[in-house]
Amino acid sequence: MSADSTLAGWAARLGSGEISCRELAADCLARIEQGAHLNAFVSVDSQRVLDVAAERDAIPRAERGPLHGLPIAIKDIFCQAHTRTTAGSRMLEQWRAPYSAHVIERLEAAGAVLLGKTNMDEFAMGSSGENSHFGATRNPWDDSRVPGGSSSGSAAAVAAGMVPAALGTDTGGSIRQPAAFCGLTGLKPTYGRVSRWGMIAFASSLDQAGPMAWTAEDLAMLLGVIAGCDTRDSTSVDAPVDDYSKALSAPVSGRRIGIPSALLGADVAEPVRVAVDEARQTFERLGASIHEVALPTALAGVPAYYVLAPAEASTNLARFDGVRFGHRCSEPRNLTDLYLRSRAEGFGSEVKRRILTGTYVLSVGYYEAYYLQAQRVRRLIRDEFLAAFGQVDVILAPTTPGPAFALGEKVDDPVAMYQQDVFTIPANLAGIPALSMPAGMTGGLPLGVQLLGPHFGEATLLNLAHAFQQATDHHLERPSGVRE
Ligand code: GLN
Repeated sequence: MSADSTLAGWAARLGSGEISCRELAADCLARIEQGAHLNAFVSVDSQRVLDVAAERDAIPRAERGPLHGLPIAIKDIFCQAHTRTTAGSRMLEQWRAPYSAHVIERLEAAGAVLLGKTNMDEFAMGSSGENSHFGATRNPWDDSRVPGGSSSGSAAAVAAGMVPAALGTDTGGSIRQPAAFCGLTGLKPTYGRVSRWGMIAFASSLDQAGPMAWTAEDLAMLLGVIAGCDTRDSTSVDAPVDDYSKALSAPVSGRRIGIPSALLGADVAEPVRVAVDEARQTFERLGASIHEVALPTALAGVPAYYVLAPAEASTNLARFDGVRFGHRCSEPRNLTDLYLRSRAEGFGSEVKRRILTGTYVLSVGYYEAYYLQAQRVRRLIRDEFLAAFGQVDVILAPTTPGPAFALGEKVDDPVAMYQQDVFTIPANLAGIPALSMPAGMTGGLPLGVQLLGPHFGEATLLNLAHAFQQATDHHLERPSGVRE
């Protein structure tokens, strides 16, 4: 397989003049139409896309940005000026954002062509893409299976060759898990590395935006553009942004890689175990050393997260009341009726479940028993990671317990669905960066492994992932029928 379908591949062809921005955008639009049954996009304004691409073509060579003419899809959780922004919810079905998110401003300033808004689990709550008001997204590798979630449409759009890269968000795994299910590389940056301004909030202390693409090289290009301080987000960190593309080729020999045996005690399918083991061997061949690390509390991440994330969601979603934001019921009898019916009609069942759980764990009688306990678990997990990173540079772990599951398989069992996040949630609780990359196949479906690093260790993660991709072919696998 060639590397032509990657962001770097298209950048080279745009640079050489082999293809124009408008031709590439038109090709992407045609592929989006061909793949309509995957339900990857919620909104695409074809005419505007073509107009923007033509504007890019008119930019003199010397003034072109680092993402000049590159097509990128945007999870529909990011506000984009004058564009419908739904967060996958009926609540915002008709809402047009009055301004653009920080990351959108950055991508546009860098010359990217934004192809459209991608489908997602409602308010980013889900692990399968099935919780969208606009219907489930399907996995391009096997359309009877889920693409993962909540960044379901972003993952499906890239895997189906509709766009070479997309933006997602990751609160408990929503970039990494769909990346793993769709054979992509995806990065959740350090909390505070990328501004959350203009990103519809789910759980504010966990949410982080990040890139999804085929390769670590492509992620480096994108992260370099979207990372950096933004005073409009008070949790945005004023730390220097590394040259991620330059960091890709640093030597791997001498790097210390941790294997968390306690985490591998979780319920994980044999092919996933094998993929992690083979990745370990690849890194050893590249000259890295392997060490055991103890993360004894990491398995308590799922229960802690499913207290904390709903707690934050219940307050964040209070603004959707039919007055300040969101769907308004018809002919309300009085203010209470307006609130009750607008929220009952606007939110789907998973969102309601989270609001109920979150309100409960924050209530006077239960705050200490649940919310405070979960915060303590969160602190323990963070401290255990910090201790581990005193001994190793990165930690290698599975991304998911198994490959993509069938549509409908877990919709009636929320706890089984939540358990899908067992390997991804710890990084969000600790605020550390984590990257998922393709590491094998089972039954025609991709498998991912994860690299976790210390705060602001993105350059190291991208370096190791790039070295891995130079030494292996997993990231070159494509679903059948998708452009190579
Ligand atoms: N699957 C997790 C949840 O449902 C994570 C979602 C996310 O990262 N946005 O909350």
